[in-house]
Amino acid sequence: MKNIQDLISHIRTAISSIYEKPEADAMAMQVAEHLLQLSRLQLSTERQSPVNDQTWSDAEKIISRLQQHEPLQYVLGISHFYGLELEVSPAVLIPRPETEELVNIIIQENNARTELRVLDICTGSGCISISLSAHLNTEAVYGLDISEPALAIARRNALKYKQPISWLHHDILAGVPDLPLRSFDIIVSNPPYVLQQEKKNMRANVLHYEPHIALFVPDEDALRFYKHITEHALNLLSPTGVLYYEINENKAAGLARLLADAGFGTVKVIPDMFGKDRFVRAAINSI
Ligand code: GLN
Repeated sequence: MKNIQDLISHIRTAISSIYEKPEADAMAMQVAEHLLQLSRLQLSTERQSPVNDQTWSDAEKIISRLQQHEPLQYVLGISHFYGLELEVSPAVLIPRPETEELVNIIIQENNARTELRVLDICTGSGCISISLSAHLNTEAVYGLDISEPALAIARRNALKYKQPISWLHHDILAGVPDLPLRSFDIIVSNPPYVLQQEKKNMRANVLHYEPHIALFVPDEDALRFYKHITEHALNLLSPTGVLYYEINENKAAGLARLLADAGFGTVKVIPDMFGKDRFVRAAINSI
């Protein structure tokens, strides 16, 4: 009878033509954990334990989806983000490690503050709002998105971690909902920022499966979302409030200019772990 070790090797080999070694290894382990409902440690201590036919045939189904380049997170319906296990579907972008970095920056900068009022624009799975709500002293957290199916997922994710977030179904390009002016301490957004012309560099698992509405902007209007959000942020942020963005690494200079022109006194571009200009922090008053 085949054992756990055989199962892991089988998955790894089956996807090795699509995913490079370290990634294929990690994915095979995740699939095995999911199918057997065992931790990483249990998988290794029980690697000689037998695997039944049902599990083996479930594994084949997962393998054939992965071989079509479907992202593992959609196949399993979960994504790990900042210590949370969040539900995801093709209605939402799979949370990225860069976005975890952004959340980490915001938490480090704000963990001594209390009764924070937070607004997350283009919330998707709710990953940013939920992790900020879980780690900061917040009075109110709002998550806004144009997509009702995305908000349904965000709602379930918040419920799972018992975070009292107010969800707003709204198109940010059409204006902002009725929210108290000059009241927010933190406004954060990871809006669509990938150019159409950048499609050619994208992997099939992203391009063919993730929601284009969450990814792409027209080449000639790359900062479309930032223009609108920046205007609204000026009205919604408190005098000591801070605006945080995740951005296209090639658009930092243009965005910094846009923020300064709009009236933000302090604008800082922050690199991600790969040294790319990935985040911008802007405060209304000069500090
Ligand atoms: N970082 C994502 C990607 O490269 C894009 C996220 C976004 O458009 N906000 O796929």
